[in-house]
Amino acid sequence: MEPTNPALDPTDALASVPAAGARRGVRAAGSLRFFFGPMDCGKSTLALQIDHNQARQGRCGLLLVRHDRSGTPTISSRMGLARRALEVHDEMDLGALVREHWGRGQRVDYLIVDEAQFLDPEQVDQLAELADDAQIDVYCFGLATDFRSTMFPGSRRLFELADELNAIQVEVLCWCGLPGRFNGRVHDDVLVRDGSTVLVADVVQVAADDVRYQVLCRKHYRTGDLGPSAVRDGQLSLT
Ligand SMILES: [Zn+2]
Repeated sequence: MEPTNPALDPTDALASVPAAGARRGVRAAGSLRFFFGPMDCGKSTLALQIDHNQARQGRCGLLLVRHDRSGTPTISSRMGLARRALEVHDEMDLGALVREHWGRGQRVDYLIVDEAQFLDPEQVDQLAELADDAQIDVYCFGLATDFRSTMFPGSRRLFELADELNAIQVEVLCWCGLPGRFNGRVHDDVLVRDGSTVLVADVVQVAADDVRYQVLCRKHYRTGDLGPSAVRDGQLSLT
């Protein structure tokens, strides 16, 4: 009779050894992933979920954020979740940051970087290096384009270097119902297309009275049509 219980098959027990070895072989490098989408598409929520899933597997990670919207270094989602994070400053060397943690005996298996559009391109290069040379898995979250509809330099570098690009699937709708892909800056109820890009993150501090952001479809971004004000108020209450 053929053995039907795989636990009794001696080759099965042996097979697990090379299989594990093969898995380690595949993981010779970490990966650099960029999750992008318009404002309010749930990027920070996903960042916190991935951190939770990784930590549950016993992995150690660092949470980094560039220009957090709360004004303190936290990754905070609009659904109310929050975790403390390290603020990435201008010209901070992210490789040195990880080595500093190693120096204190702390493992770093993965990095979560929120508001990654604000990274300097060189910092994105450092993240790629950490993935390749230190087997660190790097998860970046951010906007692709700014309110002028041009790509952030950090996002552009992520598009160039990342192993994986993921458009976040939670669709944010324009007031007309079409998918909203453009992060419009609205000043005194008028769409503006020039000014400093950093305002995107500082929206809380920047006199919330007259500057706000509204996600628009391409047509309404082009025409600057912000829709009926009743719809607009409804959309704001979701943020
Ligand atoms: Zn529209």
